[in-house]
Amino acid sequence: MAAHDKEITLGDNSFTPAITLGEIAREVQGLANRIAADYAGRRRPLLLGVLNGSFMFASELARNLDMDCDISFIKIASYRGTESTGRVSELVGLDVDIAGRHVIIVEDIVDTEHSIEHLYRMLEPLRPASIEVAALLLKPGVYRKEIPVRYAAFEIPDDFVVGFGLDYDGLGRNLPGIYKIKR
Ligand code: 5GP
Ligand code: MG
Repeated sequence: MAAHDKEITLGDNSFTPAITLGEIAREVQGLANRIAADYAGRRRPLLLGVLNGSFMFASELARNLDMDCDISFIKIASYRGTESTGRVSELVGLDVDIAGRHVIIVEDIVDTEHSIEHLYRMLEPLRPASIEVAALLLKPGVYRKEIPVRYAAFEIPDDFVVGFGLDYDGLGRNLPGIYKIKR
């Protein structure tokens, strides 16, 4: 069995274990229980995972959610606009009519909130009944609290982390726990 308590190397950086799979399982179960209680008696929620980083968390959350739900995934494509408009973001892959739906955005990590702010702006005109955010990780020292992250499994310091869906230059997404960069 691979040891997940050891330092690892990805590309040119070293990472040390920060959160174990067991801790993730426990906290995500708790999060799923809270969601099930909060959404009881309402129309079934739509878990909307933001690819690629959220795939493992979305899976863990869904497996532990003891209620009917829809599950879908989107991507945010970000590219440079034609003129002086700067960066443009576009929603890719939304295949569900979210009008009247209780949407739970499922994110790997919320840092500056730019990503979920964009998402809010793109989802709100589609008239969902509600939008909440579930994040595996939250960096509370950094995010600006304009959009509440109602469901966060872990609050972590402002260190770069990988694993359980999060990557470093494409590497580390498949790690079963969370690792933080060694400075
Ligand atoms: P935001 O700053 O907009 O809240 O987060 C943007 C995105 O940056 C996140 O969805 C995530 O993909 C990435 N990100 C932010 N912090 C980290 C980190 O510590 N590690 C990794 N791998 N990605 C991060
Ligand atoms: Mg992301």
